[in-house]
Amino acid sequence: MSADRFDDTICAIATPAGCGGIAVIRVSGPDAIVLCSKCLNTSIVDAASHTVHYRHFLTQEGGMLDEVMCAVFRAPHSYTGEDTVEISCHGSIYIQNRIIEALTDAGCRLARRGEFTQRAFLHGKMDLSQAEAVADLISADSSASSSLALKQLRGGISDDLKLLREQLLKISSLLELELDFSEEDVTFASREELKSLALLIERRLQELTESFRLGNAIKNGIPVAIVGETNAGKSTLLNLLLHEEKAIVSDIHGTTRDSIEDCINIEGIKFRFIDTAGLRDTCDTIEQMGIERTYQKIEQAGIVLWVIDDTQICYHIETMAGRILPRCSGKQLLLVFNKRDRITEEEASVIDNLFSHIPGDRLHISAKHRENTDRLQQMLLKLAGVQQAGNANETIITNLRHYEALSTALQAVRRVQKGLDEDLSGDLVAIDLHDVLNHLGEVTGSITTDEILGNIFSHFCIGK
Ligand code: GDP
Repeated sequence: MSADRFDDTICAIATPAGCGGIAVIRVSGPDAIVLCSKCLNTSIVDAASHTVHYRHFLTQEGGMLDEVMCAVFRAPHSYTGEDTVEISCHGSIYIQNRIIEALTDAGCRLARRGEFTQRAFLHGKMDLSQAEAVADLISADSSASSSLALKQLRGGISDDLKLLREQLLKISSLLELELDFSEEDVTFASREELKSLALLIERRLQELTESFRLGNAIKNGIPVAIVGETNAGKSTLLNLLLHEEKAIVSDIHGTTRDSIEDCINIEGIKFRFIDTAGLRDTCDTIEQMGIERTYQKIEQAGIVLWVIDDTQICYHIETMAGRILPRCSGKQLLLVFNKRDRITEEEASVIDNLFSHIPGDRLHISAKHRENTDRLQQMLLKLAGVQQAGNANETIITNLRHYEALSTALQAVRRVQKGLDEDLSGDLVAIDLHDVLNHLGEVTGSITTDEILGNIFSHFCIGK
């Protein structure tokens, strides 16, 4: 979809579908104010920007349909950068539909998904990463993901990348100047300066791509796998954390045969808890498949809660450690000793000693009697490591498209560095430099295609 198709005027209901106290209908485009005026008892064509007007919205027959408030925003000082009217009407579905009908009869077109934001992007009101942040902000379901989206909307990653691109463009134009004078064997771009810039950019890109793991976890929930032997209390723990009876609790071994998962916010951070089939030797094919899935879930998790039954004297510590620990590298491991209510202080310290060689944080709880479970939540927050990150000023990547573009840019920067180390000619280095510039440009949308734009905006809701 290209910019020249945005010369018409669009309309859409911007509030959620259904009946509400009030609804907002958005109209944007060169004729927004004139077309709205056709449907009102008194024109708003002379209204100043950023003013609100009480009007009657008329039926096609000229009667009064509703009393409305029209907020007028004149180009370029509106969300889309175009003339815009936001009509607040009473929220009946009938009224909303009749207003949309009247507006389309007057000459408006129904907006496509995300078209208001797409217009904002094409009119230079925001770059692509900011436009994507709008969608993230709307779908954010925790305070951490909401504040990350807001940071991006206010230019977090854009400012970062703009600076890197500017520095690169300077050097790249000097390299190109050299190409123009190739017969005279001159160097305009200092190789040392280029090397230190490439190093700076490599480090920054590395930081940004590494932040994706955290950013993705904040956006989609930090995956926490609850693993251990059968009957250790994993399902009881899951139900406790989720505040609902999600998993079946039973003292019959092997009850949980498949993974059960659900999300919950703890102090504004979203966690995705996954209860898994208990790890034990079994001849039951279905149970064995569940156990294989447990291994996959451990590998996908950011945090692993290894639940250990405090009452079992005959521990299979080494067997269990052999199953769990090799899959925990790079993850946070918490040993949760459960059924604390059934053992004494002395027994708890004996158990601690038995596990002293196993790495990871540890905690004794009683899932059934809710003992020490507040402490468990605090430890989860600590292990998630997002409290500081969510508040800090650093940029965190949350979008897979950005991550992929930045990772490719990082590879290209490394090729630039290699080329410089090997004293390659300026024209060859320039090719890789262009690659870096292009991939950085993909994130902010300074380099983009209709296909990418179509794909991004099709994920928006109508009216945004
Ligand atoms: P899973 O197989 O690991 O999911 O274990 P379940 O959650 O199904 O629990 C197995 C049994 O242990 C059930 O009878 C639970 O009621 C019991 N149980 C779980 N947690 C505790 C606890 O903290 N204290 C006591 N006394 N029993 C518990």
